[in-house]
Order: sequence, then structure tokens, then C-alpha cells
Amino acid sequence: MSQIAARGIRDQHVLSAMKEVPRHLFIPPPYDKSAYEDCPLPIGNGQTISQPYIVALMTELLALKPTDSVLEIGTGCGYQAAVLAALVRQVTTIERIPEVAGLARANLATVGCKNVDVIVGDGTRGYPQKGPYDAIIITAATPSVPRPLIEQLAEGGRLVAPVGGRDIQELIRLRKRDGSITEDQCGGVRFVPLIGECGWSG
Ligand code: SAM
Repeated sequence: MSQIAARGIRDQHVLSAMKEVPRHLFIPPPYDKSAYEDCPLPIGNGQTISQPYIVALMTELLALKPTDSVLEIGTGCGYQAAVLAALVRQVTTIERIPEVAGLARANLATVGCKNVDVIVGDGTRGYPQKGPYDAIIITAATPSVPRPLIEQLAEGGRLVAPVGGRDIQELIRLRKRDGSITEDQCGGVRFVPLIGECGWSG
């Protein structure tokens, strides 16, 4: 946690949540041995668990409240969802690869996380059944923020996403206020692609 704080994460709630969630239980062997290094790691099916600093930064940018309902696109192994779940009332997370969603469900059950729903599907369309959401986080690289997700963001809501090319993106934060959207740019990042109707085609 000291590595993350040293890189500028100040939100004590985020730092405590990351201390609480056992990251090594989300990573299949042999990479679980490197769970506490500040780097992304493979989780199978060509996918990755994000670097701890990026998980912390994106979580901090969401400015979460305990009563919030959050939508995550790109469940992966479920680690980011577990960190969010320690901070808010309810997390809905969508994963397009069924095997990866299965891994996330098993991991979340192992750590006793009860306020996360894992949905299999194309997250670029969001999940209007449980919206609107106080916060939305996209954990895969998208050419632009999918329109359905902006529509499913509540008034006062925050959305954080890596937006740009397939190889390198800018982390952006959108805020919806009085029906209009403002955008902050928060630095360069690298994510695997968001594949779907309103993302990359494959
Ligand atoms: N949030 C994860 C964590 O806690 O480690 C990391 C996610 S990983 C970097 C990106 C994930 O997004 C992959 O598991 C990938 O299969 C998924 N993905 C890509 N396109 C998607 C889509 N349209 N809908 C839902 N998931 C998608």
C-alpha cells in the first residue's frame, strides 16, 4: 500500500479497501506470487488483472459514497469489483467471456463478497435493468465512451474509462451535472481492448 500512497493516492477509504481485499486470491498460479508487485498480470483467456496503482487511481477518481450503486464493465478476475464492493452499497459488473466471469464469481465467493452481481454479456450496452448508476468504470480500452453508458449514468454521476487507441489510451473522467457532461483527462494508460457493439469490433 505504501507504493500506491507514494504515487499520490490520498483517499484513505480507497487505501483501506485495497489493504482489505486479498489480491493474491484473485490471481491464478504461478502469477499469484507476484500479486503485490505494482504491475498487471495474466489471468488466462488472454486477459489481465490491472496494476494496483491503476485500480487505486480509477477508484479514487470515482469519488464513491457508501450509498452508491456502481457499474463496472470488464470484470476480469473480479479484483476491482471487490475493491469497489468494500466502498459502496452495490456493484454490478459485466464480463464478455463466460469462463472469465466464472473465475470472478469463484474469487468473489472465496473472499466473501456479497454485494457484487457478475453478468455475462456485452458491457458496451450497459445494464439498464439496474441503472441509473452513481458511478461507472470501464476497465478495458475503448475508442470512445459508449453512448448507452452515458445514458445510464445518474445525475451527479462519475464515469472513468481508458479512451483512445488499441495500444495506448488516456484515462478520462466524465461528470454528469444538470444533464450536461464535463470531462477531465487523468493521464496515459494501457488496457486490453473493450470488444463489443459500441467498442472495438474484435
Ligand atoms: N477489472 C479487472 C480486474 O479487476 O482485474 C480487469 C479487467 S481486464 C483489464 C478487461 C476485461 O474486460 C477482460 O476480462 C475482458 O474480457 C473484458 N471485456 C472486454 N470487452 C468487454 C465487453 N464488451 N463487455 C464486458 N467485458 C469486456
